[in-house]
Parts: sequence; structure tokens; C-alpha cells
Amino acid sequence: MGGSLQVNQPGFYSIDVEDYYHILDVKGTPSLKSWDLIPSRVEKGLYAHFDLLDSCQAKATCFFLGYIARRFPALVKEALKRGHEVASHGMYHSVVARQGKERFIQDASSSKKLLEDISGSEVLGWRAAGFSFDKSCPWYFESLAQCDYKYDSSLLPNRRKHQIVPGIRDAIFEIDTTHGKLFEIPISVARLACLKISMFGGCYLRFFPRSLISVKADEVLRTRPLLIYIHPRELDMEHPKIEMNPLRRFKSYVNLESVEAKLRELLSKTKYIRISDYIQSYEMVHKSQQ
Ligand SMILES: [Zn+2]
Repeated sequence: MGGSLQVNQPGFYSIDVEDYYHILDVKGTPSLKSWDLIPSRVEKGLYAHFDLLDSCQAKATCFFLGYIARRFPALVKEALKRGHEVASHGMYHSVVARQGKERFIQDASSSKKLLEDISGSEVLGWRAAGFSFDKSCPWYFESLAQCDYKYDSSLLPNRRKHQIVPGIRDAIFEIDTTHGKLFEIPISVARLACLKISMFGGCYLRFFPRSLISVKADEVLRTRPLLIYIHPRELDMEHPKIEMNPLRRFKSYVNLESVEAKLRELLSKTKYIRISDYIQSYEMVHKSQQ
């Protein structure tokens, strides 16, 4: 375990609660029609995260796919019971840029309502499937504000397609929309040579060695919160692997067995809190400074 560093910046452990086959744009991704027939693995993986988080006294933000919440409402209730936040990852893991404004609003609002009905509490956060907004969706942030979301966490500060966002930063920032203010909680990036790399989730978390990830997490935490993004499948070694080209296969499954130790290392570094709690305290501090 690392963790000698003294930091005040919190961590956010964000889980995109979806099944092992919810991988975008690969050959083996099953069509929506067949989802109900596929044996699910999501409970096994999500409980592994819950138990890991409990052992580290950490709280997470769970971005539930509406489809998963409807099929497994007990998972939503269990997340809340363990003190985690419930947020939305959309109904069916749709690519935002292909949806268009009307369908996007329908997706964002119906998934929010479903999660609120199941959980009995307000849903404030949104994460787009595959972080998939771009310049073809200038309505993205205003639509989220229109649907009464308080924050988005879908921005990769190193992704060229995301450079359109006004006021873009590596840390939390506010976006003004015609429907009011929205907070952006970006995916954490670390500097490596002249690049910014999102190494606290996805393929880079699997790929890079634990020692490097640990050093880079310390660097991030000196100035801003650290956001981990992870999926149930990443703590479920035996989940079926779906068909994809060799590059995507490498990116999706390389060093899968290394993930738990890396997560434990990251969890040892600071206090992990729900994103909604952080926003609440951020607003209080900023109001008192005005
Ligand atoms: Zn996803």
C-alpha cells in the first residue's frame, strides 16, 4: 500500500454500472433485442467493488445504466444502503453524437426518472456512454441542465473532440447554459512527458504499472481531486470476453488481473467521497468567498 502522502484533495471512485458486453463499437457487441437473453455478470462484479470499497471505508458514485437498474433494482438499493451515490449512465448505452438532441433528452430524462423511482432520492449526475459527446452536439450541456442534472462527468480533458467545451480545465469547473449552471467533473488525467493520459481508468489503468500510476495519482492529488472510472467487469476475471479486433482486445483485456491491486493502491491515498457531496461543499466554499 502507498499512502504516505498527506493530501486534502478527495478521490472520486466512479463506477459505470453496466454488463460485460456493454462495450461500444466492437464486433461482438450484442444488439439491444438480445440483452434480456444474455446471462448477466453485473451483480458479481459490482459486489466485488462494494466489498473493496467497504474494506477501504470509501464511498463511490455509481453511474447506473437504466437498463441494469430496471433489471436489477436491488443493486440500486444496495448501492444506497452502502452509502454510495446513484447517478445515470443513460438507458441503453447509446452514443450521444448519434442520438440527436430529442432522443438524448428523452434518454437523459427517462433514465433519471427511473433511477429516482427505484432509489427514492434525487439523481444529480450524468455520464455519457463512451464519453461520446462532440462538436456535433452543441446542445449537450444545456440539455443536461434542462433535464435537471446538476453535474456531468463525461469530459476527457485530453480528448481532441472535447476541446470545444468552454472554460475546459483538468479540475472541476462550471458551465453556464441557457437552463442554468452545470458542474463538470472531468476524468482525471496525468502528465506523462508532453502528453496528458487518463490513467486512472480504462485501458491505461490496466496497461501501466502500479508504481507509475501511484506516483501520478500523488501528482494529481497535490492540486485537484482524483477521479477513478471503472466497471463491474474489471473485478470479475471470469467474465466472457467478447469478439473484437486485436487492438481493441488488447485495450479491453490486457492485465485485467492487475486491476484490484491498483485500485487498492489508489484507494489508500485519500478519502473517497460521493461527487454530489463534493459539489455541495464546493458550492458552499465558493458562495462564502463571494
Ligand atoms: Zn459505459
